[in-house]
Parts: sequence; C-alpha cells; structure tokens
Amino acid sequence: MDILDRLARSNFRSRFKLRTKEIEYIKDKGIEKIESHARDFIRDRIAPAEPVNDGKQTPMRGHPVFIAQHATATCCRGCIEKWHKFPKGKQLSEEQQEYLVNVIMEWISKQMI
Ligand SMILES: [Zn+2]
Repeated sequence: MDILDRLARSNFRSRFKLRTKEIEYIKDKGIEKIESHARDFIRDRIAPAEPVNDGKQTPMRGHPVFIAQHATATCCRGCIEKWHKFPKGKQLSEEQQEYLVNVIMEWISKQMI
C-alpha cells in the first residue's frame, strides 16, 4: 500500500508502534474483533461531518486501533484531509470509511510480524 510507505517516511507517524501489550490484546481478541472495533471508531468518532472534539478524539494510547490511527493519519479529520484527501466538514461515505479501516488493518497486520 503506497500510503503506508509515505507514512513510514514521516518522523511523527513512524514513531507509533504496537508494543507487546497491544499485540497480546490483538491475539487475545482476534483480528476480526479488532477490525470491527476499527469500523466502530471510524463510524462514530471520525465519519460525521463535525466529529465531537475533532483533533482530540483519538487517545495516544490504550486501544491498538488508536495507535494505528495516529500511525496512519486516520486520527482526526485534519490529518485525514492532509494525508488521505477527504475534505473536512463532510460526512464520510461508506466507501471512504472502509478505505480508512483497510489502511488501519494493513498497518496493524504489518506490526504483527
Ligand atoms: Zn489527527
């Protein structure tokens, strides 16, 4: 995925990595469960035209998907506009949401190796 290569060249983005604790959590829950969490977070916290607390809605730690969101610039609408070119102020379509989930899951699967 080309976008992951571009993100890997960003000093800020490439600082985010999954640690043992998060990797254990993913193994414990199963990857399908994690994907369904990613889908929920994108739908509820990111997709609305005016997300609540936009720019601060994604914690820096905790759930592995949160870490993946910072690593992949899918953490808020400003980062998404800059990196993924989906304009702010507009509800994200199902397709756009699915694309963001795919980027997150691709990043997570690379971290699991
Ligand atoms: Zn952001």
